Amino acid sequence: MKYVYLFNDGNKDMRDILGGKGANLAEMSRIGLPVPQGFTVTTDACNKYYEDEEKISIEIKNEIFESLKQFEKMVHKKLGSKGNPLLVSVRSGSPISMPGMMDTILNLGLNDEVAESLAKKTNKRFVYDSYRRLIAMYADVVKGLDIHEFEKVLESFKKKKNTTSDTDLTETDMYKITLKYKEIYEILAHEPFPQNPYEQLIEAIKAVFKSWNNERAVIYRKMNNIPDTLGTAVNVQEMVYGNIGLNSGTGVAFTRNPSTGEKQLYGEYLINAQGEDVVAGIRTPQPIENLKEEMKDVYDEFVKYCEMLENHYKDMQDMEFTIENGKLYMLQTRSGKRTAQAAIKIAVDLVNEKKISKKEALLRVDPNTLDQLLHKTFDNEELKKANIVAKGLAASPGASSGKIYFQASDVIKASKNNEETILVRTETSPEDIEGMSSANGVLTIRGGMTSHAAVVARGMGKCCVSGCEDLIINEKDKTLTTKDGIVFKEGDVISLDGTTGTVYEGEIKKVEPTTSEEFKTFMSWADSIRTLGVRTNAETVNDAMQAKKFGAEGIGLCRTEHMFFSERRIFSIRKMIMSKNDTQRKIALNELLSYQKNDFEQLFRIMDGDTITIRYLDPPLHEFLPKKDSEIKELSKALDMSLDEVKDRINELKEFNPMMGHRGCRLDVTYPEIARMQTRAVIESAINIIREGIKVRPEIMIPLVNDIKEFEYVKSLVDDEAKNVMEEQNVKVDYKVGTMIETPRAAILAYEIASSAQFFSFGTNDLTQLSFGFSRDDASKYINDYLDKNILEYDPFKRLDENGVGKLLDVAVKLGKKARKNLHLGICGEHAGEPNSIYFCHKIGLDYVSCSPYRIPIARLAAAQAAIKARKN
Ligand code: ADP
Ligand code: MG
Ligand code: MG
Repeated sequence: MKYVYLFNDGNKDMRDILGGKGANLAEMSRIGLPVPQGFTVTTDACNKYYEDEEKISIEIKNEIFESLKQFEKMVHKKLGSKGNPLLVSVRSGSPISMPGMMDTILNLGLNDEVAESLAKKTNKRFVYDSYRRLIAMYADVVKGLDIHEFEKVLESFKKKKNTTSDTDLTETDMYKITLKYKEIYEILAHEPFPQNPYEQLIEAIKAVFKSWNNERAVIYRKMNNIPDTLGTAVNVQEMVYGNIGLNSGTGVAFTRNPSTGEKQLYGEYLINAQGEDVVAGIRTPQPIENLKEEMKDVYDEFVKYCEMLENHYKDMQDMEFTIENGKLYMLQTRSGKRTAQAAIKIAVDLVNEKKISKKEALLRVDPNTLDQLLHKTFDNEELKKANIVAKGLAASPGASSGKIYFQASDVIKASKNNEETILVRTETSPEDIEGMSSANGVLTIRGGMTSHAAVVARGMGKCCVSGCEDLIINEKDKTLTTKDGIVFKEGDVISLDGTTGTVYEGEIKKVEPTTSEEFKTFMSWADSIRTLGVRTNAETVNDAMQAKKFGAEGIGLCRTEHMFFSERRIFSIRKMIMSKNDTQRKIALNELLSYQKNDFEQLFRIMDGDTITIRYLDPPLHEFLPKKDSEIKELSKALDMSLDEVKDRINELKEFNPMMGHRGCRLDVTYPEIARMQTRAVIESAINIIREGIKVRPEIMIPLVNDIKEFEYVKSLVDDEAKNVMEEQNVKVDYKVGTMIETPRAAILAYEIASSAQFFSFGTNDLTQLSFGFSRDDASKYINDYLDKNILEYDPFKRLDENGVGKLLDVAVKLGKKARKNLHLGICGEHAGEPNSIYFCHKIGLDYVSCSPYRIPIARLAAAQAAIKARKN
């Protein structure tokens, strides 16, 4: 195995072993750009370093020194030589870019002797500026010493000069600072600063390998799903001197504006500066346009390279450059990070400029980032100043600020007075729905990504942070206490970022979402390429209209129990659940019937001929039973039962495990009149709409089916009642009856079930819950441990578990199709809006995905990417 490559021997396709930075340095050098020469120690060497218990083997060391020799020959300089010394940078760079996460050391090769002789040949200020930087960086990166001690010295020298700018420090100052740095180094490290450049080099390489596992890099990888196994490469490169005088400098630039995507050079530079000075805010950098006046030739040359690089990589580039005595050097190029808005504009522009194909453009945008375009976001500048008070789960994206209230009713009251509000709850329940809908944002202390609050908020497109266990809530006193002991009282203002899960103190300015022409163009390309249909989960008029605006092709999941989440309606459903006899139940069901008919009619009108999949009642009882005394009292009046009777009935109904309780089609088996009522509502409303001249396509979906006999029993109720209604009204309605596949048993028995069911929709929330035996509501408490210990690669409630749950889907698809060739197949769990899961759904041959309204654009793009990727493979 080869562990070291000269830049001359690499190219851009070798990022796995050379890292992004190394591969691109090699590539820039290959296509003739002025790049300081050097070599790259591979990611394999990094992994070997970790295998060898954090040692660099003799074999690798020899290869490094061998390459160093060749490199020295090329540049006619030698490490440690007094006559013609080579100074190098030692730079990290992993296969996937992790900007600023790992370490770099500059000016390596300087020691007392080299500095002295170099000072004679060049200039003393430059040499000691470089030397003091090396000592501080080496102390920081290699030795892990407290960098503050060094900064303090620099500050005190600036103070003496009464300046804030390092350029006002003279050569004598720089020399003195260097001496002082060496002193501090020796005190802190208990040994003098190493004078042997070869020792410096090996130690620096080790330190860069080590920085792969520093805390911020580990966190960054976790956040971005970058495997820990990649490792970093190390680039050893000849230094060029941006700090050698007023005809020198350093800068960074993007070929296009990374925040808007506009085609215009975007960047900054500093004269007489080195390395990170531009980003570190040492002095205020100048906009790149100024370089045009200051150094016209350099500017023109740079613009030429920008164009070359963009054409070469066919993407917006983020570059670093340095000017040494009027000569330009390119030090880095990579695809630039950008906002979603910029990503789309750049992708569309590149197609129009004929640089990339539409397919490539579609692959360029991360579907998840489309979220940013649909919700308000915080103003970036304001956000930087804001005070973070807690972190929870990023349950539903968006940005919101408001006064906190601890009761849904208080939120409703306050928002009627035009107050901006945030609903804060331990966890939410159906009673809170109206409060949630009135609030600007929702914050819960408990519950995961599929908790009630999270699911409902996402459906509403409402900003929500859930499971924020950093905070202590006292619902009685109406206070919220942070880890640091800050106490928020009712009416105090906080801000929530549902995209990151962050909670801030006070109000933060927000900016409105906009959808550009480019966005529309881009999405139309996605639609023309994808084969998966995209439907929405929706039960309210608002959700359905929103989803349609976002491009939904019908409703794939209309959860009828959600239609009863408003305060008045939940009362009717409670009456039904609590009924002790058939007469009581009939009265309650009649109330529900009129609600449902009305709702279905509205949805049919909005969907205007598109399919609506109506999922019959599936209320986990614990979500619907009354809890508060006032609710119990009201119910006792309505049902003409004594308080004690009602309480007894509630106790009777209580289940040890409501998620595996008397819900779904089990309710229809016990109370056939429920399925009949719902069928009547579907068919009667469909007939009314047909009479208005609008097409309807109802699909009736039976939940939680386990067995063909169970399905057929409920289907017989549906068919019989549908027949009754159609005869009564003398109108025929074309409806289908199918089932959710959400228990493992149903998946395995798909062949039998498909003989009778006309369609399947995979309810992967329950299917995941039941396959793992992980409770949807509680699993967030331990899933992180599984992730930390690498037992699970990802949270199976967020991304479909392909190995296990996915296999059940695959089996069910194959068996189902065997029994019924044209079996229509969809998925309606949370996974239906997650790009990796969507790719999987495409591969196993589903016909559509159904997700919450605000995920529709994500699903459309992910489905297009799935089609492109599947064809490629
Ligand atoms: P990061 O990945 O954090 O950007 P880099 O390895 O790119 O770290 O280096 C940090 C800074 O040092 C950059 O500004 C870079 O341009 C500068 N730098 C790196 N190598 C050299 C070099 N050989 N000559 C001059 N400046 C360099
Ligand atoms: Mg860099
Ligand atoms: Mg379910």
